[in-house]
Amino acid sequence: MALAEFELIREHFRRAGTRADVVLGVGDDCALLTVPAGMQLAVSLDLLVSGVHFLPDVAPEALGWKALAVNLSDLAAMGAEPAWVTLGLTLPAVDEGWLAAFCRGFYALAAEHGVELVGGDTTRGPLAIAVQVHGFVAPGAALTRAGARPGDLVCVSGTPGFAALGLALRLGRTELPEPLAASALERLERPQPRVALGRALRGLATACIDVSDGLAQDLGHILEASGVGASIEVERVPRPPVADADAALQAALAGGDDYELCFTLPPGRLPRLAAAAAAGGCPCSVIGRIEAAPGLRLRRADGSPLHLARGGYEHFG
Ligand code: ADP
Ligand code: MG
Repeated sequence: MALAEFELIREHFRRAGTRADVVLGVGDDCALLTVPAGMQLAVSLDLLVSGVHFLPDVAPEALGWKALAVNLSDLAAMGAEPAWVTLGLTLPAVDEGWLAAFCRGFYALAAEHGVELVGGDTTRGPLAIAVQVHGFVAPGAALTRAGARPGDLVCVSGTPGFAALGLALRLGRTELPEPLAASALERLERPQPRVALGRALRGLATACIDVSDGLAQDLGHILEASGVGASIEVERVPRPPVADADAALQAALAGGDDYELCFTLPPGRLPRLAAAAAAGGCPCSVIGRIEAAPGLRLRRADGSPLHLARGGYEHFG
């Protein structure tokens, strides 16, 4: 890229520091960062590619927000405290208005969580975004996918399925009345990472994952990592209030991009869940139970099995 373009980019990403543990931020060859004594560093990276992870015509402000949100969601799922972020950008052209809008979304969410952008890289190419987040967690306190035990309750935060509705709307595959349509788009484009809930689940949840690919699929990762199975009572799964009850259920169980947390906890700890949900700022629902037999069983109230259509939103075709 030409020097002038680098200057422009640097202008957007070099801002006054907000954290005392950033000794040196954007502008040098490396950032210099101080990890608090006795803490572990939790690190995660997500790639977002135009046409694969987001629609090419998505508003850049929403994209900036979401690129950070999906990463903070990974820290939330580990119960880690967000601290620093680095950003890799591949841009087809340097468009000042686009960059400014992207930064508005990105920095708005960063400010909400006290996260500082400490470096990155920028090159020309097809639009793609890599974000790496760094957080802190005390040794032994992280919520992994591997701790679920038979008898544990399976829980989910919030109401999964709205993002799938939002995508169906954006793709013109469904119509929704207001204010449902606005909520669905908000959840698709400005997801709220459940950082406070993840923090509140430390010492409470035995396993945790964030729901990016659909509740059933992501719960499957917990089951596999923990060497267990589960039964879900599908009527207990919270879902968007759309007229087509089956479509709502499919969206809640198979729709991606909600960034809710799915977690397990021993029944004896259930009395503490309400306080954690209050601290986390979102309701949590018990939807099933961990069992020793491997596999995921989705059961209706009458005991009959529910079969998932692939991709909840396709149901809105
Ligand atoms: P180098 O060639 O040494 O990698 P660069 O010219 O790529 O340096 O970057 C200069 C500074 O700007 C570095 O501190 C780098 O972290 C920062 N930077 C470049 N692109 C971004 C970006 N997209 N987001 C945040 N910081 C960036
Ligand atoms: Mg570089």
